[in-house]
Amino acid sequence: MLKATIRLGVLSLAHNRDSKQTVKSDLFSYNSIRQLLPVLFVLTVSLPCGLAQPPILDVATTTKSIQGLPIHWGKHDGAILESNGNICVFDQADVISHRVLNSPFVPKNLATVKVELQAELGNRFETIVSGPYVIAAPSGSTKQWQDRFNALMAGYMRYFEVRGWPLRSPDFPLVVVVFPNRSTFVDYSMRESGMQANVASNVVGSYFPYTNRCLLFDQTTSGLSSETEATIVHEAVHQLAHNSGVHERLFQNPMWFVEGLACMFEQREVYDLRIASSTIETRMRQNYVQQLQALLQDSVSLEQALTSLIASDDYFRVDVQQAYAVSWAMTFYFAERQPEQLRTFYGLLSQRGLGEYTVGDRVADFRQAFGIDSTLLSVQLQRLFAPHR
Ligand SMILES: [Zn+2]
Repeated sequence: MLKATIRLGVLSLAHNRDSKQTVKSDLFSYNSIRQLLPVLFVLTVSLPCGLAQPPILDVATTTKSIQGLPIHWGKHDGAILESNGNICVFDQADVISHRVLNSPFVPKNLATVKVELQAELGNRFETIVSGPYVIAAPSGSTKQWQDRFNALMAGYMRYFEVRGWPLRSPDFPLVVVVFPNRSTFVDYSMRESGMQANVASNVVGSYFPYTNRCLLFDQTTSGLSSETEATIVHEAVHQLAHNSGVHERLFQNPMWFVEGLACMFEQREVYDLRIASSTIETRMRQNYVQQLQALLQDSVSLEQALTSLIASDDYFRVDVQQAYAVSWAMTFYFAERQPEQLRTFYGLLSQRGLGEYTVGDRVADFRQAFGIDSTLLSVQLQRLFAPHR
């Protein structure tokens, strides 16, 4: 029997317009996600194991018909990976019948997903296929989004290729939906996530690991600032990372690494192929450097933050803004100063498979990959980011 633990969340970036500073928050606080989002859950279940290919199930519930790979079949609920990449979660109480199909699981192709997305969104949107992307945007604006996403992907792929990370092609089309304005983005995000709560006013984009969709809204009317551009990149990198093997959607990934990586790419000098040369200073994201300064002066608190982030994701509930900044600092430090060890760490994560990522395992993997503890790491971060202490 295979113990499967699935943890899926909403990854999103908020842009605080008032302070002209990028601040981070998850679309809804972690506590409210736990209460409101049926898909953010930790399931510890038993799945039939020993099958090279899991059976494809056809499940009829009181509200819908679902076909796909069963990734969780529990006493109270179940989860099925559909051929468009969506993970559908349902209550067992709603299941009317289910049967195993003989047909193989084949991910939907780009053309099919494009047609379905166009039908779903209606004729106010234009839907195009570009590379692995299916992009829907207000009519007339798809070209700019296509160019933007393709440029980012080229830079992202190149970044990891030159560092020897064996990326894989996405298993499913990467769906990006750009809404014409904030209110349509909010409405759709609420429906997509099954949430009732209000979306925080400063959230400007989301990536949903379970639907695998990147959602944004067009802010060109209010001027596309560099911070807005950073938001787009942040969400797009979440999607790329979860579809190229850097993170696995069904695994528990340390949040410091997931958010740290997306935050690192917010700085164009990290990935943009049009920038001929860069230095470690120009690759730093200054708003995080500034946000870290107080913590860098306080060795005890810094070490505590690092210890917490290495062992669990709890720090994101304690101080979400600082958690993003410290996660960025950790990822940036390792990417710049210990790139081989960061690749080793990624290798350990990708081999884990389904299962709960315990505190003990997280700490052990971190030590094995990087060979340092939070005490030494805190000294290194102080040296790199607060050189004039
Ligand atoms: Zn994020």
